[in-house]
Amino acid sequence: MNAKKGLKKEKKDALKIGTEIIYPGERKRFQLKAASLYDYTALTIPIEVIRGSEGGPKLFVSAAVHGDELNGVEIIKRLLRRPLLKKLRGTLIAVPVVNIFGFNHKSRYLPDRRDLNRCFPGSEVGSLGARLARIFMKEIVSKCTHGIDFHTGALHRSNLPQIRACLDDPETNKLAKGFGVPVVINSQLRDGSLREAARKKRVSTLLFEGGEALRFDENVIKAGLRGCLSVMRNIGMIPQLTKGVSKSPNKVYVARGSYWIRADHSGSFHAVKKIGDMVEAGETLAIISDPFGSEPYEVTAKDGGIIIGMSMIPLVNQGDAMVHIATFKNTSHVKEALTHIDELY
Ligand SMILES: [Zn+2]
Repeated sequence: MNAKKGLKKEKKDALKIGTEIIYPGERKRFQLKAASLYDYTALTIPIEVIRGSEGGPKLFVSAAVHGDELNGVEIIKRLLRRPLLKKLRGTLIAVPVVNIFGFNHKSRYLPDRRDLNRCFPGSEVGSLGARLARIFMKEIVSKCTHGIDFHTGALHRSNLPQIRACLDDPETNKLAKGFGVPVVINSQLRDGSLREAARKKRVSTLLFEGGEALRFDENVIKAGLRGCLSVMRNIGMIPQLTKGVSKSPNKVYVARGSYWIRADHSGSFHAVKKIGDMVEAGETLAIISDPFGSEPYEVTAKDGGIIIGMSMIPLVNQGDAMVHIATFKNTSHVKEALTHIDELY
């Protein structure tokens, strides 16, 4: 190849993020300027890009869009330490902390109380959240073919490891099932979410949920990491497992729907069931009572399913959401898959 042709090819293969240029075969860590603090201190988004020498899918993995949701930050940290990334095909763009404001304040929100996951695709002249969302879309999402966005339950609300995705899109459907956690929720897109904006750019994106805000949950982290590697394997970014160590693929079950059980009475509650439990219609989930234990009220399931989310504070006001239940065609099969999930990690 002559020098001119070589230069042309290099330019074509260059990936530009902010002021950084990353070529095939390179691994680079850098900070993307996103905003400034009151005192003019620059606020930057930490990014690591790994490019295989061979072309292939371009996958972004992001966490802490809600600044207090930490399991994904740990999942990405562990992913980046995997030696098998040396054999990467395509490009991995890792963004462990998207909402840098929220993360530094241990808060879900931005300083103006906006939710970054309702600010996408963003705009150059909009709110702080809209500007941050625009930078993320322009510099990261629009340069990718696939994405995984890691979330947890809200503060004091824990979730079973699960995938939420728009399964009407065939590529996203394949990605969701390849992630390998037993529970998949076919979740319609929410206005202003990263997932909706990515879909409009034709970037197939999964949302992983697991655990609760401001906590690390080892099982959730392992499930998220394993799922991420499984997706990368499925889209040909990393080699398949060798036959000797290959495990049979996890069975994946798509929920028919989900519903929340709300407290009928105020008081403190004692949970009888836990996350991942199978429940039948009419079964007792928790008992609400006054501080003396008198006048106990049973909280029961309306329909059979699997508990996929729960309030972690045992105090409720009348009307508070307590237990989130997903319903399936055959709940016992899902329970069976969940029973074996620990053995897989
Ligand atoms: Zn979240």
